[in-house]
Amino acid sequence: MSEAATLERPSPQQAEHVDVLIVGAGISGVGGAYHLKTQCPGTSFAVLEAAETFGGTWWTHKYPGIRSDSDLHTFGYRFKPWTGTPIATAEEIRKYMGEVIEENGLDRHIRYNHRIHSARWSSADNLWTIEATRSDTGEAVRITAGFLWMCQGYYRHNDGYMPDWAGKERFRGQLVHSENWPEDLDYAGKRVIVIGSGASAATIVPAMAGKAAHVTMLQRTPTYFRTGRNAIELAEELRKLQVDESWIHEIVRRKILLEQTVFTERCFAEPEKVKAEMLANLRSILGPDYDLDTHFTPNYRPWRQRIAFVPDADLFQAVARGEASVVTDEIEHFDETGIQLKSGQHLEADIIVAATGFHLNVLGDIAFEIDGKPLAFHETVTYRGMMFTGIPNMAWVFGYFRASWTLRADLVGDFVCRLLKYMEAKGAKRVEVALRPEDRDMPILPWIDPENFNPGYLMRGMHLLPKRGDKPEWQHTQDYWSEKDAFAAIDLNDAAFVYR
Ligand SMILES: Cc1cc2nc3c(=O)[nH]c(=O)nc-3n(C[C@H](O)[C@H](O)[C@H](O)COP(=O)(O)OP(=O)(O)OC[C@H]3O[C@@H](n4cnc5c(N)ncnc54)[C@H](O)[C@@H]3O)c2cc1C
Repeated sequence: MSEAATLERPSPQQAEHVDVLIVGAGISGVGGAYHLKTQCPGTSFAVLEAAETFGGTWWTHKYPGIRSDSDLHTFGYRFKPWTGTPIATAEEIRKYMGEVIEENGLDRHIRYNHRIHSARWSSADNLWTIEATRSDTGEAVRITAGFLWMCQGYYRHNDGYMPDWAGKERFRGQLVHSENWPEDLDYAGKRVIVIGSGASAATIVPAMAGKAAHVTMLQRTPTYFRTGRNAIELAEELRKLQVDESWIHEIVRRKILLEQTVFTERCFAEPEKVKAEMLANLRSILGPDYDLDTHFTPNYRPWRQRIAFVPDADLFQAVARGEASVVTDEIEHFDETGIQLKSGQHLEADIIVAATGFHLNVLGDIAFEIDGKPLAFHETVTYRGMMFTGIPNMAWVFGYFRASWTLRADLVGDFVCRLLKYMEAKGAKRVEVALRPEDRDMPILPWIDPENFNPGYLMRGMHLLPKRGDKPEWQHTQDYWSEKDAFAAIDLNDAAFVYR
């Protein structure tokens, strides 16, 4: 089918058809569209996005200070140099994504305000039928697609996870969630409690501090943080030498990736030493009397949860200045004026911010059917965290936890394009992954080993996620360093791929 066909609008009776349908216009979906356009010219495709614009995570989140917690040289795409500071604001990330869309003519493929609610596979036709509803007009839209590229992220947008705290309704101030930020929230001179200890809380606290009367970060348990200057000296040096930005991007990516690999290896090989270094850094900012043991010394190994990077140590500087403080305790209940803690302490507040994470959203809350049967996604086994046994013609982007998400989005992009071209050359209409005879006795395990990585949203949703095996082919290894070579070397003729 020609690319122009994506622009034709169907008559109500007739569904429009595209070769590939991408779900979502976040960093993964926009990247997927770029890869299709550049690596598979002639393939027709559309991107359906529920929101009114692109950006995904970087559009949904509007809380003060919203920024990345990994560097943009690796969170940015491989193919477009990042020229700003390594840690970037949501606005800067969206500007960069907007340029990718514009420079590559991707806008005419993206349909905003289209929420997909069902996807049905028919083996008789080798087609997906996708049903969506336009949120701006209410119109029902049906599209058929040969291949489905799932770039829907991993959490439900605009519906953050808020625990069911006792007495929540009694609180007379404002209770907001970091994922549903009221843009007109006035916190000047107000007493604010931010509940949470992850990257969002670590961003919101310093951003509100100074303007609010006081900000208290209330956490049940401490988290690891790394700090540093929001700059990469090598990039600055290369810029002074007037080195081309595309070279700088590549060189800095390699440097960061190498350093991350060394750091991750050290976390496993000498966790106590790494922990001591991180704490010594915080001690130097917070002073000799600060209770680091209670507030910043987790009882788990570094890397079992994502380690947020705090640029210019702004969170700790706000604590050191007395504009913010940290309380490590458990919530007994909310009351009219604030939060009663289990220790007996009471925290007074005008505004309470829940930075308490997500509802895991597996497959974009889309009702999937394969030949009339509802898909039991949790019963499938994953092929390298991107395809699934029993699901034909579908790939999924699930990025890295310990490295930038986009590194994997680019790898999956290369793989999908290679697979589509291989199918075309072979004349195959359908591809599915299946366990090979040598995999039959392989232990089938949960999606991720909780000993290795265990954030709350994943633990709460583990029962919804596919299974993994104990071989690299049958799991999401979370290891970019090995996957960058392994993905490029995937033999599409391997018995794990079944074509028809
Ligand atoms: C506050 C915050 C900060 C983060 N910082 C980093 C970071 O610094 N580095 C990092 O590596 N990771 C970070 N992450 C993880 C981050 O979510 C990913 O890195 C990345 O942005 C995900 O991109 P995505 O395109 O895969 O998904 P998303 O950004 O979630 O976008 C998915 C898109 O799909 C759309 N969609 C979903 N379901 C449907 C449907 N049924 N129909 C139509 N459209 C649908 C959504 O509307 C959305 O626009 C952060 C996450 C959060 C929440």
